[in-house]
Amino acid sequence: MERIVIVGGGFGGAYCAQALERRVDRDEAEIVLLDARNYLLFYPLLVEAGTGSLQPRHVTVSIRRFLRRTRFVLAEVEGADLEARTLSYRLGGEGGLRSLEWDQLVLAPGSVTRIPPVPGLDEWGYDMKSLGDAVALRDRAVRLLELASETGEGEERERLLHLVVVGGNFTGVEVAGEFHQLLVEAAERYPHVHPAECRVSLVELTDRILPALEPGLSDFAASRLRRRGIDLRLGRTVDRITETEAVLDDGETLESRTVIWCAGIAPPPLLGRMDLPLDERGYVLCEPDLRVRGRRDVWAIGDAAVNLDPEGRPYPATAQHAVRMGKALAANIQRAMGGQDAEPFTYPGQGTLAAIGCRTGVAMVLGLKISGFWAWFIHRTVYLFKMPGWGRRVRVALDWTLDLFTRRDYVQLGLAGRGEPPDRD
Ligand SMILES: Cc1cc2nc3c(=O)[nH]c(=O)nc-3n(C[C@H](O)[C@H](O)[C@H](O)COP(=O)(O)OP(=O)(O)OC[C@H]3O[C@@H](n4cnc5c(N)ncnc54)[C@H](O)[C@@H]3O)c2cc1C
Repeated sequence: MERIVIVGGGFGGAYCAQALERRVDRDEAEIVLLDARNYLLFYPLLVEAGTGSLQPRHVTVSIRRFLRRTRFVLAEVEGADLEARTLSYRLGGEGGLRSLEWDQLVLAPGSVTRIPPVPGLDEWGYDMKSLGDAVALRDRAVRLLELASETGEGEERERLLHLVVVGGNFTGVEVAGEFHQLLVEAAERYPHVHPAECRVSLVELTDRILPALEPGLSDFAASRLRRRGIDLRLGRTVDRITETEAVLDDGETLESRTVIWCAGIAPPPLLGRMDLPLDERGYVLCEPDLRVRGRRDVWAIGDAAVNLDPEGRPYPATAQHAVRMGKALAANIQRAMGGQDAEPFTYPGQGTLAAIGCRTGVAMVLGLKISGFWAWFIHRTVYLFKMPGWGRRVRVALDWTLDLFTRRDYVQLGLAGRGEPPDRD
């Protein structure tokens, strides 16, 4: 019996395992999936889980429930010997190294936030890449309001109530829009804080936000954010961060105690520890059939891989592409095991959706440009139905319905963010 080993149980890896379960018989191959966490994180709704319209747990999907007969191993994968076809990992991320042999290896370890060498970023910057990050940021926002409420007028109060978001693509725009709304709404519970005092600045290196969208939609999103009072700093970046300020590349200083870094992704460190063909940024180079270049039995998909479309352009790093690649790869592995040729992966994409807070969005779906409430509504509906499992869908729909009719509570969940001591008496 062959063994198919999958590294990463995110959008690419989990959907690949699920499709393999359907395609490959139990007695033909054992499917093993390793991931450092035992859930698939539904990133498109992560920011909402942070701001509170969704319960944090409801944006996770249990891998054990999602997959029926795949052997799941909670593990941190450390490396691989591609010649010996052996993977090394630590069970639960601790203890000694264990090894696992494979016949077919799928690499789907996703990406990490790109952290450039900006002084102070490591120490004072916040990230939006995990459930912990999302909840910690919400805790941080509530803490800022508590502190500001007891701080007299002046620079310190302004710093507390000012968030700086770096990176004007999908994640940064959603973080800026949603967290601005959270602060403004929450401020109504604080008699000594006026909602107009809550400020968000969005810093973007290029001359427009959402550069992946066509200019009309970017302009719409920008004008909506500006109208709500969000300060857009286009053509700028942050050169230095301290505990109390973000210094822009033109020397201007934004007084703020909270800088959220949403500017790009980088390859996961694991890739550099394997003898793989990598591009200049460190992503795995693949053939059009999703095979790693120069390897017959190693495949790579999702954010970690450079998979080229028929025009030779890399597919974008999105969940919709990772899912399609996972499913197509299962078919190719089945073909390879049956001695047939694998087929090139082609997927034109179904469109792009972005939420910008306050029930507003922008979307490009099936060639149609949509903006405003309907784009936001499509964003919600599409992701609701993309959420795996009816149980999760019902929970998410209930959260959203309750959020429409009830007022949120602004309490901390005890996850202190970076750059501040844990809450203690
Ligand atoms: C805040 C945010 C919002 C987003 N919104 C959207 C959106 O609206 N629409 C969209 O299409 N895309 C969105 N994306 C992008 C999308 O989430 C990614 O493109 C997608 O998750 C990539 O899938 P993947 O399988 O490659 O990686 P992931 O889904 O990240 O899965 C990788 C898995 O590998 C595991 N892993 C990594 N290294 C190791 C290791 N050494 N050992 C064990 N396990 C490991 C990780 O724990 C993780 O579970 C968003 C991303 C973010 C961060």
